[in-house]
Amino acid sequence: MLKYCFSLCIAVLALVSCACAKLNLFQQPSRAEFALGTVCNVTLFDQAREEVYRDIFGHIREIENRMSVNLPQTDVMRINAAAGYAPVPVNNDVFAVIERAVYFAELSGGAFDPTVGPLVSLWGISGDYPRVPSQEEIDAVLPLVNWRNIELNPEERTVFLKIPGMALDLGAIAKGYAADEAAGIVKEARINQAIIDLGGDIVTSGIKKDKTKWKIGIQDPFNSRGVYIGIINVFEGAVVTSGVYERFFEEDGIRYHHLFSPSQGSPAAGNLLSVTVIANSAMDADALSTALFVLGYEKGNALIETLAGIDAVFVFEDKSIRVSPGADFFLTDDEYWIAVE
Ligand code: ADP
Ligand code: MG
Repeated sequence: MLKYCFSLCIAVLALVSCACAKLNLFQQPSRAEFALGTVCNVTLFDQAREEVYRDIFGHIREIENRMSVNLPQTDVMRINAAAGYAPVPVNNDVFAVIERAVYFAELSGGAFDPTVGPLVSLWGISGDYPRVPSQEEIDAVLPLVNWRNIELNPEERTVFLKIPGMALDLGAIAKGYAADEAAGIVKEARINQAIIDLGGDIVTSGIKKDKTKWKIGIQDPFNSRGVYIGIINVFEGAVVTSGVYERFFEEDGIRYHHLFSPSQGSPAAGNLLSVTVIANSAMDADALSTALFVLGYEKGNALIETLAGIDAVFVFEDKSIRVSPGADFFLTDDEYWIAVE
């Protein structure tokens, strides 16, 4: 029996400690809207100004209208429709995000690949009828999945997919970009403390009034939304998680999740349940969380050791957790344990 599970709730619980005590209780501090395929939650702490919320959600929708593959006529849909046929002029931000996606594709040796579109469609992972395709079907689609066949022309600001049938999917990076953009609007509006949570892509903005770090919960992969296994403490920055629980279906007792191995053409195998990346940029953290998940712990950890200012928390199936040296992580669930090499 095919059972499809996709929760629309908020991906990671953002724990906000003492700052809450200083809130003006007559203001509504949080705003949640459904966008980019998830619940987007923004909290402006010191001034919950209506026009700032409006600007943030307006801009998030603008980004969705350019980058989504679930809406008609977005820039990305136009690129995909012209695959193998013609370069497509796109908006500045779309070009920049695709450029960054290509950068992370190269950096991760193709573990992160924005041309996974045909695999996402074949497995139907984001639709109502997901299914396990045959090996022949996978083999037929695999030649279409290769970031090297993206041709970027910065002068013309065009994007060309060289092979008919290729398709971009920015699902692993666009939310991070949108979170960074939202944080930019917060700064411009001179709001001193805010949290932006786009379905688990979290940016903390500003230093808390009591000068302590923000506390961001890491979702328990085995439990319902908002149940966390530990806390990451951060000053300003991004905390982004990719996990098997985010979108998945089950067939014959096997769980198939939405993080694909671009070389195998199936959900990335391994012993990881989630990877959380801490970085300055949510866009980078978003791409990297997917990349590290697909690479697996050994290769993923080796990669972040080469990157300054990037940290990660790896959660394994056996409930062990591995934390990179710069991450300030505090375990709260005693069923899990921190593995020391
Ligand atoms: P989430 O969207 O659940 O927060 P991710 O940021 O990891 O998680 O993005 C997962 C989405 O990215 C998938 O739904 C799919 O659209 C796309 N994707 C899946 N595998 C890859 C991959 N190896 N490289 C790039 N994008 C991927
Ligand atoms: Mg991601």
